[in-house]
Amino acid sequence: MKSVRSVAGLRKIVHSWRARGLSVALVPTMGALHEGHMTLVRAAQKKADRVVVSVFVNPTQFAPGEDFDKYPRTLAADKKLLEANGADLLYVPAVSEMYAPEATTVVHPGPLAGILEGAVRPTHFAGVALVVTKLLMQVQPDHAFFGEKDYQQLIVLRRVATDLDLPVAIHGVPICRAADGLALSSRNAYLTAKERAAAPALAATLKETATLLAAGKGTAALTRAKARLVKAGFDVDYLAWRDADTLQPLTRASRRGRLLVAARLGQTRLIDNVPVRRKK
Ligand code: AMP
Repeated sequence: MKSVRSVAGLRKIVHSWRARGLSVALVPTMGALHEGHMTLVRAAQKKADRVVVSVFVNPTQFAPGEDFDKYPRTLAADKKLLEANGADLLYVPAVSEMYAPEATTVVHPGPLAGILEGAVRPTHFAGVALVVTKLLMQVQPDHAFFGEKDYQQLIVLRRVATDLDLPVAIHGVPICRAADGLALSSRNAYLTAKERAAAPALAATLKETATLLAAGKGTAALTRAKARLVKAGFDVDYLAWRDADTLQPLTRASRRGRLLVAARLGQTRLIDNVPVRRKK
């Protein structure tokens, strides 16, 4: 696997693939890679001849006081995992390569960036949209892969790619979970042993509540779910039943619903989501 740090180095390699008629996929990450990221790499390998994985802890998507400084950085282990999974190119730009000091352009995704995660983290999705737009312009892939783990991010990025006519197919990949149901996340490394033991209640509550909502049990199920999470030790930022495409609130079971949660366990903020599908 090759590894590059500069846009110029990246472009040289991608151009050489293009000259040979090969298709290219991009998997953007912030590193501290785990099996969840590898499901994206494998999905990308199925769609394209060559797979680029970027590792960049993007400062513009973290607000002051969030975990940018302590975010896990494990580049040597990331490289090994990517090699073992057959990725073709690792792109690891420095912050100064991604953001020139004089740069002022922003990418604002609009109203979708202000709800759910965006209501709690108002600058987050503009940072995500900016860095992903730049990565897509730098790599110019045919396909880009994002996890449903960050469900709203996937919806926001579909909006951005459509609105800006970016010539790329955006693909969502289902959530990869630990055996006990906890969605894999680089941030799970922050959990103490006690918190890790409590954490699966998040996914279990989502799963159970989704079944109740799909069966027409209505919003009372949401109230009970919140109480259960609080009892398990979570501070709930939101637990929301939304349309899977528009992220607008739902009050009745539909064929494409999604139940999304963000909750804090001690110092760690966890997000998760599941489909809510009305039985036909
Ligand atoms: P991150 O490094 O956390 O920014 O994640 C990079 C990409 O991997 C994003 O598109 C995430 O949604 C995706 N991802 C992270 N964890 C998982 C998981 N457990 N299952 C599926 N995709 C994931």
